[in-house]
Order: sequence, then C-alpha cells, then structure tokens
Amino acid sequence: MKPRSIRYCYRDPLSEIWIAAAHKIGLRVERTADAFAHSDGSGGLHIATEEHLDADDCLAQMIFHELCHSLVEGPEAFDIPDWGLDNRHAEDHFREHAALRVQATLSGRVGLREVLGPTTDFRAFYDALGLDALADTRDESTALAKHALRRAGTNPWWPHLGRALDATANIITEAAKWAAPSETPVLYRLRREPIPLHATGLPGRSTSLPETCGDCAWRTQAGHCHQADSLVEVTLPGCERFEAPFDCQDCGACCRSAYHSVTITEGDAVEKLHPALLVVHENYTELRREGDHCAALITEGARHRCAIYDDRPTCCRDFTNGEQHCVTARRRLGYSL
Ligand code: SF4
Ligand code: SF4
Repeated sequence: MKPRSIRYCYRDPLSEIWIAAAHKIGLRVERTADAFAHSDGSGGLHIATEEHLDADDCLAQMIFHELCHSLVEGPEAFDIPDWGLDNRHAEDHFREHAALRVQATLSGRVGLREVLGPTTDFRAFYDALGLDALADTRDESTALAKHALRRAGTNPWWPHLGRALDATANIITEAAKWAAPSETPVLYRLRREPIPLHATGLPGRSTSLPETCGDCAWRTQAGHCHQADSLVEVTLPGCERFEAPFDCQDCGACCRSAYHSVTITEGDAVEKLHPALLVVHENYTELRREGDHCAALITEGARHRCAIYDDRPTCCRDFTNGEQHCVTARRRLGYSL
C-alpha cells in the first residue's frame, strides 16, 4: 500500500488564538527550553516548550499573562527585556500584583478567571483577590492595574486582546461540556458564566456583589452617571467601574493632577486665615506650591488630605466630588477606571 502523504498539521486552537493575538499586538511567540516565560525586548516572547511545563500550564494562559504585564508596563516596555521587571526583587512585586489584578479582571469578564489563572509563585495572591480584583484601593498595585485596564482599550492591544478572550471563552465553553471526569480535574471545568455587559454598555460587575448604581460615587442626585455619561436608575446593579462615595480628605487627586495654580477669589477665608500659604502677584494671589502640588496638601502614607479643607478657596469648592473633572483627576492618578 502506498504510504499516505501528510499535507496538514494539527495545532492546538487556543495556542493558535493567542500566538496570533500576540503577533497582532506586536510580539512574536517563540518556544524555548531556556526559560519559563521571557520577553527579550526585541519583540520576542519566549515561552517554555511543552516538556518543561506543568500539568496546569497552557501556552494561551502564559501568553495572556505576559500581555497583562505589557499592559501594566506600557508600550515603552516592549523594548525592555522582561518588561523591565525582576521578580527576584521585592520592589517589583507590586508590578506583578498589578498584572495579576488585570489578568483576573479581564479573564473574569468572560468567565475564565480560574481557567486562565497564572501558574507562577504569585498564584496565592491571585487566588486571594476578591470578586472585584480592583477593590483594594489602598494597594499601589490597584492604581497601576486601573491604568493598564484603560490601556487594554487602546492600540496595540485593542481589539485583539478582547477578541482572543472571547474566542477562548467560546472554545472552553464547548470543550467543558466534553471534559471527562478524571482524578486530576480538567481546568475547563472551572469555567464560570461570563459577566454580562452593564445596561450602560460598560463592563459588568459580578452579580454576587450587592452594590447598585444608587450606592456609586459616579451617580449624581439627578441620576446621571459620569462614567457612562447616561442616566442610571438607583436600583441598577453596579458596573465594573462602581466606586463607593469618595472622601476628598482621603483622595486629593484634583490637588495633585488638576491644578497648576490655585488662585484665590477676593473674600476667600484663606486670605485672612492662612497668610503663610499665599503668594501675592501683581494681578492675582495664589496658594504656594510644594513640588508638583499645592502646599496645603498633606500626604500621610497613601492618604492625601487638605490641611485647610474647611477654609479652602472657591476654585477648590467648585471642583465637585463625583463630577466629570473629578473622574479626570482620579483617572490620571489611576484611582478610577
Ligand atoms: S459608574 Fe457607578 S453609577 Fe455609573 S454605571 Fe457604573 S456603578 Fe452605575
Ligand atoms: S473632588 Fe474628586 S478628585 Fe478631588 S479630592 Fe474629591 S474625590 Fe478626589
């Protein structure tokens, strides 16, 4: 009998999706025996060959994890080996934590938080993240993660990352129906239902979280949401951008990122009460600055508060908590999505 000729090859569909997504984003996936996962700073993403992987490793997840690092570190890090990170040094751990918050948030949207979970030594941190992986606003990695999630909607990641996640979710959903019970359960079985988009079109939030738009900092009394730029009912479940009402005395984002000069309006109490803070010019008076912020702003750890809040000038009073300028200031510092 004439031997058959082999004209096609089989490739794992998930691997294909993520190799292609990485390529569209600007990264070339290469398999190696020399590293677990390593970006070379020249567009190469080197991932260990199959025989060096653990039973719960998969190429798709490993590429996705590296893409989450790229989101945290930004486009300039494409030219730096390993995104400029060195996990042997504790000072880089918060950047790893930020990537894991991004990984949990993006994969959670499509119900793959466990299926596409990291297989590194940081897994315990990932598993300990609550349903809202961005909830811990005191942790500096959360601000980095929020910056990264905003990047996910921009070039070169958008739309490839989202499409790869959707395609992966579709395949896993079907594969999970066929996965046979086994002594070591198949990862597919950990798939959850995707989180539906919010009624406003923003990414949704786990339905297990109780807060509604009525509890959210971004909804005005008139019912307008400054994140969605639309009216929202009090009883609507919160979206991914839900935030509890802010305490300006714990934030100070506008004092650090919105003003270059805090000018005094005639009659402002600060003129009489805090003369040491004033700088008088020929045509106007302003508050003294220290570095890149107003001298009245006091920083205590992660907390930034105004030392003269009750006597603050008119221009600061006009900057309303929860309004559009507040969103902009908080976004600049990574406080809000
Ligand atoms: S940002 Fe807040 S108010 Fe706006 S849709 Fe989301 S949860 Fe509702
Ligand atoms: S107005 Fe907004 S940005 Fe300014 S301190 Fe208050 S919460 Fe922060």
